[in-house]
Amino acid sequence: MVRIALVTGGMGGLGEAVCVKLAALGYKVATTHSPGNTTADEWLTKMHHLGYAFKGYKCDVTDFDSAKSCVEQVTAELGHVDVLVNNAGITRDKTFKKMSKDDWDAVIHTNLDSVFNMTKQVMDGMVERRWGRVINVASVNGQKGAFGQTNYSAAKAGMHGFTKALALEVAKHGVTINTISPGYIGTKMVTAIPQEILESKILPQIPMSRLGKPEEIAGLVAYLASDEAAFLTGANISINGGQHMY
Ligand code: NDP
Repeated sequence: MVRIALVTGGMGGLGEAVCVKLAALGYKVATTHSPGNTTADEWLTKMHHLGYAFKGYKCDVTDFDSAKSCVEQVTAELGHVDVLVNNAGITRDKTFKKMSKDDWDAVIHTNLDSVFNMTKQVMDGMVERRWGRVINVASVNGQKGAFGQTNYSAAKAGMHGFTKALALEVAKHGVTINTISPGYIGTKMVTAIPQEILESKILPQIPMSRLGKPEEIAGLVAYLASDEAAFLTGANISINGGQHMY
């Protein structure tokens, strides 16, 4: 039986590694790209040349109707979604004093509302089939807070509140839902930080003295998606090189 995985933001740094890992394990993989992404076809072609037959779907995860039509298309073309990875996210860092309502809304809509919008489309089917996995990609900064990230820390902490509550509701139906909270991973979200800040401020916080690798996150997602992880639900798994032990 081939399982279908849908990864939001699969064309980004972490998402790509997750798509590749799940495909290597035999899943059929669908990914979303935002409506403003002008390089989605290029990415799909690049991945096809590397041997990955990913399907890409335009989806604004902040918009309920867009999420609905995306999941309907995936279901019609590939089959029902067995594994949903809520990975799409953005930052708009500013101190609270400077943070605008738009900065707040954009981050809450993209990181948190998206989890409702996407999960709502797949949950009834997972419960009916008595098997499903939802994996929410949060952040260490949702666990411990971060300077300049009231919006992002709130959204990521909110993802885990959602996870725990929904895990209770669906546990007896064979559906698990978990949060993972990565620390600093070497994707463009982090490598965009000036090198001197990385070296002087960020690496010293990480006992392993390095950034995480997207593949390390993908390995954890793959485990949570597997049958072996059937007894693991409502957890928030830290994966951060020892930066924050929770
Ligand atoms: P990227 O910026 O590389 O990827 C983020 C993805 O989110 C992009 O593919 C983007 O899609 C998608 N996205 C953003 N807005 C929307 C939208 N409105 N609708 C649909 N898709 C959208 O970041 P990373 O890969 O680094 O991050 C992935 C996740 O991991 C995020 O949730 C992030 O918060 C989290 N994280 C990352 C860490 C890191 O160190 N990198 C640490 C902890 C957590 P598109 O490209 O099509 O616009």
